[in-house]
Amino acid sequence: MAFRIRHEVLELTTKHAFNIARASAPPVRRTVWVRIEDGAGAEGWGEAAANAYYGESADTVLALLPLYEKALNDAIGADADVLALERAESAVELAAGRNPSARAAMSAALHDLAGKRLGVPVWRLWGLDSAVPVSSFTIGIAEPEVMVRRLEEAASYPIIKVKVGTPEDRRVLELIRKHAPDRTVRIDANTNWSVKQAVALLPLLEELGIELIEQPFKADDIEAFRLLRERSAIPVIADESCRTAADIPRLAGAVDGINIKLEKCGSLREAVRMVHIARAHHLKVMVGCMLCSTLGIAAAMQIAPLVDWTDLDGAVLLESDPFTGPSLGTDGRLSLNSEPGLGVARR
Ligand SMILES: [Mg+2]
Repeated sequence: MAFRIRHEVLELTTKHAFNIARASAPPVRRTVWVRIEDGAGAEGWGEAAANAYYGESADTVLALLPLYEKALNDAIGADADVLALERAESAVELAAGRNPSARAAMSAALHDLAGKRLGVPVWRLWGLDSAVPVSSFTIGIAEPEVMVRRLEEAASYPIIKVKVGTPEDRRVLELIRKHAPDRTVRIDANTNWSVKQAVALLPLLEELGIELIEQPFKADDIEAFRLLRERSAIPVIADESCRTAADIPRLAGAVDGINIKLEKCGSLREAVRMVHIARAHHLKVMVGCMLCSTLGIAAAMQIAPLVDWTDLDGAVLLESDPFTGPSLGTDGRLSLNSEPGLGVARR
């Protein structure tokens, strides 16, 4: 019995152009649907939503798949022990280093396969309950009036994450609060603020009742986070600054929480480790996503019962989603299902 890896490139289009402070939207996002087939004909699926900021593209993912197939077969192929997940993930990482979204797709597919073999969903395999915090819905950067229109289109979502990091931030946030007086509002500057800008905005953010501030500063500027946190009554969260568990100890004391994404940490098991290490440092935990289909969201959602905040709206921002499965409802609720593995099917 040997493992075979098949793949398909998915071309995903968002309903609206989706811009953030450090990158403007490409017209089409290419993600990779990875399928690991075991010798008995069972298949596990994962999605690699490669992100240029972390050094990947769909093409770098595709280049690695033959290496991963060989590594998997060398490591666990002889007995095809699909439950040797730790060993399988190590073999994949040793084959080609970081490549986090490529490895995350492999990890998701291996867990999907293991769950299917055992007939249980992954979250249940981990002994978790299916209750998950309500997700935010993200409003990307656009003209302020356009952002208000997006906000109104998303009127059913109780939690909004607003992308900031432009000269219009003050006006945008005042407008958003005016049009959404009762909704929870989070903000994410995607590395684009200076300490001076952040401190100057702080009184307004507190007055508007902003729930949390995500990644205000450059990824390696941990001192800036510490300075803001000393002055801020609003929790400060690290996203780009926190890729893997190894980043967490140096962030402790400088931030209030971390945002975990499979596309940064490279595996479901690493994501679980991150939750535990964050807790040991008294940090809050969010699980987030890149723009991806329901297949990518389903993998991240397996960890969501362990966290405080979720931001898993990647698939609902798409024009069309190739998969069905664990989903984000228009009321912001995330629903895990009881299907084996990740619980995802092709639409
Ligand atoms: Mg973020």
